Amino acid sequence: MARPKCARLVDGLPGTTYFKPRGIPLVDLEEVVLSVDEFEALRLADFDGLYHENAAARMFISRATFGRILESAHKKVADSLINGKAIKVEGGVIKMAQKRVFQCSACEHTWEIPFGTGRPEACPQCSSNNLHRADSDRGHGRGGGGGRGAGCRHRHGQAATSTKETT
Ligand SMILES: [Zn+2]
Repeated sequence: MARPKCARLVDGLPGTTYFKPRGIPLVDLEEVVLSVDEFEALRLADFDGLYHENAAARMFISRATFGRILESAHKKVADSLINGKAIKVEGGVIKMAQKRVFQCSACEHTWEIPFGTGRPEACPQCSSNNLHRADSDRGHGRGGGGGRGAGCRHRHGQAATSTKETT
């Protein structure tokens, strides 16, 4: 698979990231991996019913790229339905519109993680597992209008989050 050039902006991750046909033991199960940008393309085009052009704009990618992602997503979903494969949603070059902020109750260290990486197990600073969501930061990334994420600057290293210092 070709490496994507730009991070695609997505709104969030699916609540469930693994879909499994009933009655097939995991060991016998084949799975297809749907990347998060493919999932987002499905959501925008097929579920929300957006025109490809609008959906592409929402993800800050070209319409052609969007079409390619969507086609790949359709193929994988069809493969899963027809051949009884599980679907795992993960990966992809994405930039989250929202992220989760955690705070350590022991040392008050605060850090951000992108959606989809799971709840952190321990504070990266003091290894305490007494963590909580810093909910004050939730919703911050929405509704800003323009600016953030507009136009790919090809900063490939920062696929997952945009950095924001929290004190
Ligand atoms: Zn800590």
